[in-house]
Formats: sequence, structure tokens, C-alpha cells
Amino acid sequence: MPEVSCRKSLKNIQSYAPAKTLEAIQEELGISNILRLAANENTMGSSPLVEIAIQKTIRNLYLYPDGMCTELRKKLADTYKLNSEQLIFSNGSFELISLIAQAYISEQDESIIPVPTFGWYKVVTLAMGGNVVEVPLKNHSINLEYVKNNINNKTKVIWLCNPNNPTGTIFDKTQLTNFLKSIPKNILVVLDEAYYEYATSENYPETSDLLELYSNIIILRTFSKVYGLAALRVGYGITSKKIITELNKVRLPMNVNGLAQVAALASLEDQNFRKLCVENNNRGKEYYYNVFKEMNFEYIPTYTNFIMVNIKEDSIQVANEILKRGISVRAGVEFNMPTWLRITIGRAEENIRLVEVLKDVLLN
Ligand SMILES: *Cc1c(COP(=O)(O)O)cnc(C)c1O
Repeated sequence: MPEVSCRKSLKNIQSYAPAKTLEAIQEELGISNILRLAANENTMGSSPLVEIAIQKTIRNLYLYPDGMCTELRKKLADTYKLNSEQLIFSNGSFELISLIAQAYISEQDESIIPVPTFGWYKVVTLAMGGNVVEVPLKNHSINLEYVKNNINNKTKVIWLCNPNNPTGTIFDKTQLTNFLKSIPKNILVVLDEAYYEYATSENYPETSDLLELYSNIIILRTFSKVYGLAALRVGYGITSKKIITELNKVRLPMNVNGLAQVAALASLEDQNFRKLCVENNNRGKEYYYNVFKEMNFEYIPTYTNFIMVNIKEDSIQVANEILKRGISVRAGVEFNMPTWLRITIGRAEENIRLVEVLKDVLLN
């Protein structure tokens, strides 16, 4: 039987597998009250101001949203001292990553991707018929020298996740500026900063300062992580007006829904809540560092709200045992780190619960 054939480039793509939903896991295992520490969500939730803002908007669901996110744009520019004309909003950073590929990657163009990293860069490159050049990390960190050594005249986009998911490591401003200075300006450099707010260290680069000097960079940030709005899907890019013009050509006209816009705006109004989340995360980090030291487990110091730990056993089995005890974490196998777990840092009592379960699984 003849069948409808899809575009050739889709043949090389495996469907992206996000972390299972809570409902799916609970049904599968027949247990309720599962704690999800697998997707780097903010278990503190979102600011109470968000709920109020959504309540107020709920009667206006019949109206199309503002395709330019005007109010949110103003507030965001104001909060982070950005130029409002250098912002583009998206249905989560996932969408923006797709838009970048749609606007810039043609067949046979190359994406350079340090691995392991966020999986979506590869999918969107392949979808456009581009080729992926994977570059290893060095000591769990993105090494910009390795990246540079893989540049050739087919290189189109370089995808840099900083801090890197899943390893939680960063490169600093000197490394980044030396790199940007030395590479051709017709290559687009994507700086995915999904964990920007958690990276409080002085070594973490403030990349928005670089926009004036480099017109070939785009910074990606999101409301899904520290602002706790993952369900609503709001991400944004900070880049040159020229790049925004091109991205707008492939963006859906009203890609950020109305509730998402008011929620994101409200979350920005509560910087105190953000501060509490970051402080909670910093305490959680220290807690895990101490526990892992005590247990003699190697871990990677993190600039994010998750931590990688080497439990020296098969991570799929261990993650399954942890799940049976009511907590979902990410096995390192998919990142080619088969004996590691990626654990989202939660509230103090959640971190304690995870450590109890981990000890129960590993020490018995
Ligand atoms: C979580 C995450 C995203 C996804 O963000 P959304 O805005 O929810 O689409 C993007 N990049 C990285 C590195 C992430 O970890």
C-alpha cells in the first residue's frame, strides 16, 4: 500500500521523550503523592500574585492575546534592564529553539552541540535537514576550544547551554568573550540560559552586556524554572533587532497565550519570591553536597536547581527503585552517564525525603 511520505529529514529523528507526567507515573505504579524531581521544575511553585492575576483574566478568555506581549515586554525590560526592542517571546524556550532552526538552518548546514546537553537542539537541526556535530565536554563542562576546533564553513549555529543541562556547569565571561571574538560573525551563537536566575556566582557571565558588541548571539531565558510557570509555557530571547525580524517571520502570530502573559508579568512583580526560591536552592545545594560527601559519592558542583551525582550503579535500576518509593528522578543513561542520577533540588523536606529513599535503595 502506498503511504503518505513525510519530509526526508524527519526519518533521522526520534520522538522527543519528556519526563513522564505525574499522572502517568501514578497510574502505572498505583501510588499517589509522587514527588517529581526529574524535570527541574520549581517545587516551591509560583508567586501568589500569579494566581490573583489569572483569576482577574479568567473572564477575558474570549479575547485573542497580544501577539507582541506588550505589557510583559515592558515589565521584563524594566526588571532585567534590557532593551524592550531586543526581546522576543515564545511558547517556552522549546519553541524559540525551533524558531531559530526554522529561520537559520538550511539543508547541510551544521549545528555544533557540546554533549551531553539539552536534547532539543539536535532534534530541530535534524528536522531542518541540517547536520549535527557533537563535541564532548571536558570535566563535565562545555569547552569552547573544542567547539571552536569544530567550526568550518558549513557551521551555522552553535548551541551553548550555560549553565549546562544536565551537568550544571558554566563557562565564564572571559572564556565566552575570547570565543566570540575569535569566531566568524556569520555563525549564530545560542546561549540557552534557562537557569540564569539560579546561577548567582560572580563567575557566571552577564551576557546581555555582550549584545552591543556581538550581533550574532541570542540569549534564551524562561519562566519555567525559577518563576515556576512551566505549565504555562513562556520563554523569551534577547538578541539583535535583525534576528528578531527574521524569527518573527516563522513565529505563530499569537504564540504566547493570554493567561501565560499575565502570569509571567505577575511573577516578575514578586522579586521577593524569586529571591526566596534562589535562597532555598542554595541551601538545598549545600545539603546535597554534604550528604554526597558523607556517602562518598562524586557529584558535580551545580549552578542550577539540579545536581548530578554518581551513584556507581546502573542508573535506570536505581531510578526505578527510587520511583517505587515515590520519587521520580532522571537516570543518567540518556546523557551517556550510565551511573549518574540528575536530581532536581526541591524544598528542604523534599531533599531530605529523597536522601532517605536514596539511602534505602543503595545501602540495602
Ligand atoms: C527546561 C529547559 C528549557 C525549557 O524551557 P521551556 O521554557 O519550559 O520550554 C530550555 N533549555 C534548557 C536548557 C532547559 O533545561
